[in-house]
Amino acid sequence: MRFCILSREDSKSKVITSRMRQYLEDFALVYDKEEPELVISVGGDGTFLEAFHTYRHRLKDTAFIGVHTGHLGFYADWVPEEIEKLIIEIAKKPFEVVEYPLLDIKIHPVDSNEYQHFLALNEVSVKSTEGTLAMDVHIKGVHFERFRGDGLCVSTPSGSTAYNKALGGAILHPSLNALQVTEMASINNRVYRTIGSPLILPKHHVCELLPIYQGRNILITIDHQTEVYKNISRIECRVANEKIRFARFRAFPFWKRVHDSFISDERS
Ligand code: NAD
Repeated sequence: MRFCILSREDSKSKVITSRMRQYLEDFALVYDKEEPELVISVGGDGTFLEAFHTYRHRLKDTAFIGVHTGHLGFYADWVPEEIEKLIIEIAKKPFEVVEYPLLDIKIHPVDSNEYQHFLALNEVSVKSTEGTLAMDVHIKGVHFERFRGDGLCVSTPSGSTAYNKALGGAILHPSLNALQVTEMASINNRVYRTIGSPLILPKHHVCELLPIYQGRNILITIDHQTEVYKNISRIECRVANEKIRFARFRAFPFWKRVHDSFISDERS
């Protein structure tokens, strides 16, 4: 099997990365950065997000696994002390795969039909750098509300425990093919009105965000990467056809992961 390892590059992650590579090569696995079947991230959730975006062009052929070298991560859920066990599991058998939904994002410019296309593992968040963000929200092609406030966040089920959770969104089990829209400090008074509650949309219900004022800078963050845009006509969000594949070598159910991440982790 072909594998590669992405490291956060701090000293602890580097040591663990070189140990893992050595062990896996001792088991006759082949290190291949171009076409890995298994991508191991060593660091934190940020490193895992980086690994996902590095290999998002080959999601069908690649499975991911995360080792954390700081605090327990949501994606980076193996501890360094478990590495020997993990290596033996990787080496000895074809692994089980668990698939989680992703978010498909298209950013359409005002003056062209050529859009930019992205996938997010956690979310896309939209903010303004020049005062209040003002956007029309359309659902399934129909105007739903005019939003004014700090911003909007559209998240995946596995991203629902990240930024979405801090915004008061619900935690969604990743077996649900859905996306969630949450508000950041919306203005609600006699002039402006939004729903105020997080919205959960099923697959095929497209959510579009349309900036009301052109010419203003809009900050769009997809997972950990932020870009400033001007003159965009709409941001189209839907549940992606693609899924991320996690290599599973032990049972670590989603709700146990939520419990250990946010309530208490008996292992640390
Ligand atoms: P970072 O290093 O500041 O990480 C933010 C935290 O989010 C870390 O503790 C990480 O473990 C955690 N995290 C990431 N994905 C998670 C998930 N799916 N479930 C639970 N926790 C998760 O920033 P980064 O490494 O660049 O990560 C980017 C992510 O940070 C974004 O995708 C966004 O979800 C999150 N974020 C959160 C807030 C907030 O909670 N207020 C604000 C901005 C961004």
